[in-house]
Amino acid sequence: MSETPITISNLNDYIFCPASIYFHSLDYYTDTLTYQDSYQINGTAAHNAVDSSTYSDNKNILQSISVYSERYNLFGKIDLFDTDNHILTERKKKVNKIYEGYIFQVYAQYFGLTEMGYRVHKIRIYSMDDNKMYPIALPGENPDMLKKFEVLIKNMNKFELETFTQENIKKCSHCIYESLCSFSRLKE
Ligand code: SF4
Repeated sequence: MSETPITISNLNDYIFCPASIYFHSLDYYTDTLTYQDSYQINGTAAHNAVDSSTYSDNKNILQSISVYSERYNLFGKIDLFDTDNHILTERKKKVNKIYEGYIFQVYAQYFGLTEMGYRVHKIRIYSMDDNKMYPIALPGENPDMLKKFEVLIKNMNKFELETFTQENIKKCSHCIYESLCSFSRLKE
């Protein structure tokens, strides 16, 4: 296993395109990348409220706390955790489809929380724009999805950008980083 922890927010990026992780980290330090695609930035608006702690003053709601899973060497922040009802919620601005990347993000948060000693009974994804809640089966209740999650972590740990080729030109045509990316199939 790689010694460097995988950032939870990178799970979704990696599934979209492994190269996008590197541009996403640039994005963090600059505000010049203002053109944004819904799949890649869906969590941004929702998490801005979390990061500025504007969601709730309820002491039973943990917001934006850092978690680490030693089992999977994953590091990041949860969105919302209700300590009374043991419910973990990941908010997205608008959910049109439950992508596997969304599920893996809440899995990672789940493992981080449970390894820290919290009991998590339910996990779910909340679509803010249309006020819809999507329950997600716990990893232990969905062995196939858990297996996919573990394969993803394994692939991320052994990924090497130098040998990467993007096979799906459609992804490049919808990618917010395309103009910066030397791996883009549109540049061939
Ligand atoms: S332009 Fe294509 S190869 Fe580059 S990050 Fe985007 S999807 Fe990946």
